[in-house]
This record gives sequence, C-alpha cells and structure tokens, in this order.
Amino acid sequence: MIEPERLVQSFCDLVKIDSPSDEEEAVAQHLIPRLEKLGLQVDRDAHGNVIATEPGDNPLLLSAHMDTVEPGRGIKPSVIGDRIVSDGTTILGGDCKAGVAAIIEGLESIIEDRKKHRPVQVVFTRGEEIGLVGASNLDWSMIKCHEAVVFDGNGPVNRITGSSPTYMRFDVTVHGRAAHAGVEPEKGLSAIRIATDIINQLPQGRLDQESTFNVGLISGGSVRNAVPALTSFGGEFRSRNSETFDLLKMQLLTTLEQARQRYREATIEEELEVMFQMYNLDPEESIVKLATRVMGEMGMEPDIRPSGGGTDGNVFRLNGIANVVVGMSTNEMHTVNEYVVIPDLVNTARFCQQVVTFGY
Ligand SMILES: [Zn+2]
Repeated sequence: MIEPERLVQSFCDLVKIDSPSDEEEAVAQHLIPRLEKLGLQVDRDAHGNVIATEPGDNPLLLSAHMDTVEPGRGIKPSVIGDRIVSDGTTILGGDCKAGVAAIIEGLESIIEDRKKHRPVQVVFTRGEEIGLVGASNLDWSMIKCHEAVVFDGNGPVNRITGSSPTYMRFDVTVHGRAAHAGVEPEKGLSAIRIATDIINQLPQGRLDQESTFNVGLISGGSVRNAVPALTSFGGEFRSRNSETFDLLKMQLLTTLEQARQRYREATIEEELEVMFQMYNLDPEESIVKLATRVMGEMGMEPDIRPSGGGTDGNVFRLNGIANVVVGMSTNEMHTVNEYVVIPDLVNTARFCQQVVTFGY
C-alpha cells in the first residue's frame, strides 16, 4: 500500500540532500541502498547515472533526474496544510525529487504487497537541468527497455506532456581589435558594439504559440579604458513547428553573415547545437494507451498539454524508447515559490504502482 506519511518523509529527506547539477553524488549514494533494498541490481554507467534493474522480459523504464536548479542548497522543506514548501530562500526541489520519491514509494508498495508486476528498470539521471546531459551520456547498452514513463512534468500526474519543441543552443564570439579608448580609439574595433548590433537584429521573447528566442548570456571587454577586443554571447531558441525552427536558424545565420559583411575586419564565429528534438505524442502508442488507461482506472482524466521545455524523454525518444512524460506533483518549479501538493504526490506514487502492475 502507498503510505502517504512515509512518502512525504522520503521526499523531504531527498530534498535536504543538496544536488545541484553536476553535484549529484550525495543523492546517488543515498538512493543506491534504497534501490538495493527493493531487490534491484544497481549499476552506474561511466557518466554516473544510476541504473537499477529487475530481471525479466520487457521491463518498463521508470525515470527521473537527480539534479536540481539553483538556488537549491540547504533546502528546508516544511508541510503547510496539504502542501510541501521551501522556506522561501531556495527552490523546493520537487523537480525532480517528487518524481524520484514517487517511483521509490510505488515500487516499495509493490514489493511489500508481493504484487505481480512488470519487471522494471529505474534510471535516475544526472544533469537534466543543464541540457539533458545525463540522459545524453546514458550507456544504452545497459538499458533493456523499449518503453518508459518519465516523471518530470509539472502539476498532477495526469498532466501529460503532449508535445515538446526542438531546442537549439547558440554561442557567438566576436573578435574586434583593442586600442586605448582615450588616446587612439580610431585604431580599435569594438567587439561589444558589433555584438550588440547583432543582438539588436535578433528576435527576442515569445514569437508565437510554439516558438521562443532568447539571448541569455553576454560577456566581453577587459578594462574600462580599452576598446574591447572580445565579446561573446549565448542564447537559445525553440519551436514546436519545424518550419519556424528552420526559419529562426536561418535568421540567426543571416544576421551573422550580414554583420561579417558590415564589419569586415572583425572575426565572428558561431557554434550551434540542437540539444533536443521535438515530438508530438501519438495517442495510439502503447505506452500512451497504458498511461491513459491507468489514469482512467484511477478516476483521472488525462490532461495532455504542449510543453515549451524538454525532458530526458526527448533523449529517450531519439534512442528508440517510446515514453510518456507525466506530472510529478510539483508546481512553480525553478522558483522559490515551488510547492508540492501532497495528495498529488500520493497519486503520482499510486500511478507508478499501477502502471507497473497493470494487467499482471
Ligand atoms: Zn525536471
């Protein structure tokens, strides 16, 4: 049986362990014995992802990520009414530890009740928040699954991610020429001036229902009284429409090319990388049918919504693992106002239990 008190305690224990991206080892060491206690064979891949396996055919992959965003150190969770909140100075870490806690509680209840169930493979990844890095480095030779449930959506468990955009990261470096700003500025070529000129030509913010564009980083110059020789800026754009995505890419490249024409003495270099690919959920896919059927049995209406973000599910898809991303009961994630609704958390664990035992 799902035990709400144990689940809340388990969640609070998890968020008290600091695990900003790239510093997941303490939480991994906490999770390994807990997974072993459930009778799973626990392994690490070379990147440090935690992979826990049950023997048997056609296992179902259950996944969540171990890392959290900042400010996420020294999290002090407390229960207020039917919510779990932080003290307001940090995030809560429900993204994604509500998912981690729900998976463990779901499996714990199955083992205790000796319920017949589909074999599972649990994958707790690193570095999801810094660009799906853990999933991208996952050792696929250790993965035996063709289907997965990814616990990494916001809101209640029946909120299913229906589509996700393609995401392009870009970094631009502008090399100008340094000169003393007061003595002979005409000998210089300001990299900051060129970079801001480029940025002014680029789109910003929400472009349409499916697309956004952002320059989020800029750095440059060395001292106040020199014409700056070097400036770099970075950003990202995403769209759930592949034509818009291609247009945005072209717009970025054209803008850079025009700047090269305008500032022939400067060197302008760019690096573009697709971090994840879009998908539209197919309601006829068997993992989607399984998830929606289980929700139906639990008396919940599947609430399928598009998302502007990516999850490890995007990477799983690229690697041939059909999956469905469900809500894990946290809200306002990545803010200090983040909160987990306890009845939703209990439902997430119950969903985990039922999706694994359905039809067995
Ligand atoms: Zn997440």
